[in-house]
Amino acid sequence: MTTLIKNIKELLQVRETSVSKVSGAGMAELPTIKNAFLIIKDNLIADFGSMENLPEIKVDKVINAEGRIVLPTWCDSHTHIVYAGNREQEFVDRINGFTYEEIANRGGGILNSAKKLNETSEEKIYEQSKLRLEEVMRLGTGAVEIKSGYGLTIEGELKMLRVIKKLAENYPISIKTTFLGAHAFPTHYKENKAGYIDEIITKMLPEIAQNKLADYVDVFCESGYFSVEETEKIMQAGIEFGLKPKIHVNQFNSIGGIQAGVKFNALSVDHLEIMNPEDIEALKGTETMPVALPSCSYFLSIPYTPAREMIKAGLPLALATDFNPGSTPSGNMNFVVATACIKMKMTPEEAINAATINGAYAMGLSDTHGSITKGKKANLIVTKPISSYYQIPYAFGSNLIEDVIIEGEII
Ligand SMILES: [Zn+2]
Repeated sequence: MTTLIKNIKELLQVRETSVSKVSGAGMAELPTIKNAFLIIKDNLIADFGSMENLPEIKVDKVINAEGRIVLPTWCDSHTHIVYAGNREQEFVDRINGFTYEEIANRGGGILNSAKKLNETSEEKIYEQSKLRLEEVMRLGTGAVEIKSGYGLTIEGELKMLRVIKKLAENYPISIKTTFLGAHAFPTHYKENKAGYIDEIITKMLPEIAQNKLADYVDVFCESGYFSVEETEKIMQAGIEFGLKPKIHVNQFNSIGGIQAGVKFNALSVDHLEIMNPEDIEALKGTETMPVALPSCSYFLSIPYTPAREMIKAGLPLALATDFNPGSTPSGNMNFVVATACIKMKMTPEEAINAATINGAYAMGLSDTHGSITKGKKANLIVTKPISSYYQIPYAFGSNLIEDVIIEGEII
């Protein structure tokens, strides 16, 4: 099956040779081709270029993209979209003046989601989660990372990971799976934190590794959750079971989580709302991708990741949604890109790089996703007719997507 997309007003994120990520000043460069064509063969990008160089080939299908922008689908490297129920009551509690930490101390927060998850059947969790996955695909996401972390028991964690596996089997979108048993301490381990960490390391990790249920290991490294020392212990154990770390750090406090992540060669360190100069310094020259989650900052009214300082320091930056029931009940990457421009003062070029190639890197997928490169997955967003790609962040409340193509098929 060969599909030709012709008369593309502008084809974005064109990389003749694959790059794994872009950093610092390189983030401002978004290579494009105006008046372009793109050829899809089966599920891959086979060719692209200017319309004047369109080769004479037989195709099965033609899409006329006149007036439309085409770009790679979003790569959302940080989500928790497998969960049960919702936390809309806490949302209203917060409007009424309670803080995230106060709600957590009252038995809300992650423990509330864990209670619901453990009470809900695997089938029901799958049914609820697949609707969210379908929604994010329609919003232009073509690769996504999904975490466990609402089980906090071996049964609950395995149940979540099996749901993620089933989603990966049943949908064309690429899914990477992260084990986040260290998301919070369950109530019955409140007075015995070492006991829970021991359960993660000696019971959960071996079972997960044996059944190949996860690609990465994650820890919520934060005051009141997992200390730096505990985070390091879990990262070390994860690595021994073949799971590279991707960790939650610096959301509310800078306690040394970034330095720990770098020390263990984490694929990414995520959140980064609170960044000291030493945190930025620690990331320089490393293979660890910093990931910002601006819709979480928006929803919780907490600081935004200081993107300008980080880019100025030469760092790369990826953008992701953090789609979860408590702090970010939205998986809309278009909103993330717009919010990064509006609130973090990233340029449209930087934000699109952060949400495509750098997001792919933060999932270990930059060989196959995140740019218009021959041989990569034919995962594409075709916009409605728009004046320029600036519209994507500028018209932040509008849905500008006409078609989403995943693995060569319009979904
Ligand atoms: Zn998260």
